[in-house]
Amino acid sequence: MNEKIKRYFLPEEEIPRFWYNIQAEMPNKPEPILDPKTKKRLTPKDLYPLFARELCEQEFNQTDAWIKIPEPIREMYKYYRSTPLVRAFGLEKALGTPAHIYFKNESVSPMGSHKLNSAIPQAYYCKEEGVTNVTTETGAGQWGASLAYAAKLFGLEAAVYQVRISYEQKPYRKSIMQTFGAQVTPSPSMSTRAGKNILTAHPNHPGSLGTAISEAVELAMTTPNCKYTLGSVLNHVSLHQTVIGLEAEKQMKMAGEYPDIVIACFGGGSNFCGISFPFMRHNIKDNRKTRFIAAEPASCPKLTRGKFRYDFGDEAGYTPLLPMYTLGHNFTPANTHAGGLRYHGAGVIVSQLMKDGLMEAVDIEQTESFDAGTLFARAEGIIPAPESCHAIAATIREALKCKENGEEKVILFNLSGHGLIDMASYDKYFSGDMINYAVSDEEIDRNIANLDKQ
Ligand SMILES: *Cc1c(COP(=O)(O)O)cnc(C)c1O
Repeated sequence: MNEKIKRYFLPEEEIPRFWYNIQAEMPNKPEPILDPKTKKRLTPKDLYPLFARELCEQEFNQTDAWIKIPEPIREMYKYYRSTPLVRAFGLEKALGTPAHIYFKNESVSPMGSHKLNSAIPQAYYCKEEGVTNVTTETGAGQWGASLAYAAKLFGLEAAVYQVRISYEQKPYRKSIMQTFGAQVTPSPSMSTRAGKNILTAHPNHPGSLGTAISEAVELAMTTPNCKYTLGSVLNHVSLHQTVIGLEAEKQMKMAGEYPDIVIACFGGGSNFCGISFPFMRHNIKDNRKTRFIAAEPASCPKLTRGKFRYDFGDEAGYTPLLPMYTLGHNFTPANTHAGGLRYHGAGVIVSQLMKDGLMEAVDIEQTESFDAGTLFARAEGIIPAPESCHAIAATIREALKCKENGEEKVILFNLSGHGLIDMASYDKYFSGDMINYAVSDEEIDRNIANLDKQ
């Protein structure tokens, strides 16, 4: 085919009409989600008080491989989709590799990351079901910004609890949330019992994602017509993100290629699942041999070094018990610059796929990730989010192997977001002060052993 084409776009009518639900086709279904008290298997109804009903149904759906995308959601996807599939000629040249490198550019979304792909459907289903208010937590603010925008699109009020230290140190995402009319509260706050308890004991508490989740959940449970939303980890979030891979599949066809390797960075798994599952389908059904690589930070390596077991999804232990790869819900990752990857566990579906050997994972130190991100920026003109830098680092490792072996492999990675609001992290890298924080085996073992005591 024509090797000179740089970017591949789909016309609007080619934007997916269905999401792909891998749960229906995986060789082994995920283990059930359990009530922490009774240890009984949960059903969608058990989650109705917290999330929109349709999202609860999607969460547990193991029968329908294709789930229709409601037309109002597609209308909103049209504001930024399709996203371009880009051939990284510049990066290939910089590396001198015979590999063909492609990336799916999710950074072109109005909020700068893939998170909007799920924020839109979550807000839509809430609106359809008569909900008036949505709430969530956010760390660095990518998810909060996406939810704030999606809530505004569908006329919902959004209340976001932002971890206090991020609220103070990363003021621009707070400003973005406010631009879309969201009420942003630094967490811990005096507005909830969970927040009050912590603030009374520790008036200068910097906040944590665990506390912010507790505050958002409490608000949802105590406010009429208010639902909680989450930007990663859950099955329905991964489902919505499959628009990434479904588009990429068509665009790779336009390029006349099929990926040998698919790579994405990994926090809770949503962007990895999004780009991988539509291609993994062909490994499961059509005997394709594509490799899928999740790139996680060495400071928070749940897939490469965590344990597969039941654990809570949050630090406070409010959520159901999830069967997943985890470092333990009390694990506190070092305060690295890839804030969106600092989560102790992996989603339930990916965990099962990992256990079954359908995918791989690598962990990457933060200086290697910024080396990769800077090289990519200079070669392709896009400054990647610190999270996405991990995917780029893993891609470079594979492309250099191709160079060594003279192999012309096709590598596809997901550029989950741009880094234009994260330049403070790049400053730290350029100053030479950035340190690596690989977690020790002892710390992981101690943390997992703690789970058995609880
Ligand atoms: C949130 C975020 C991630 C990590 O979340 P996943 O659910 O693992 O995809 C990665 N990249 C960016 C830009 C993010 O905002």
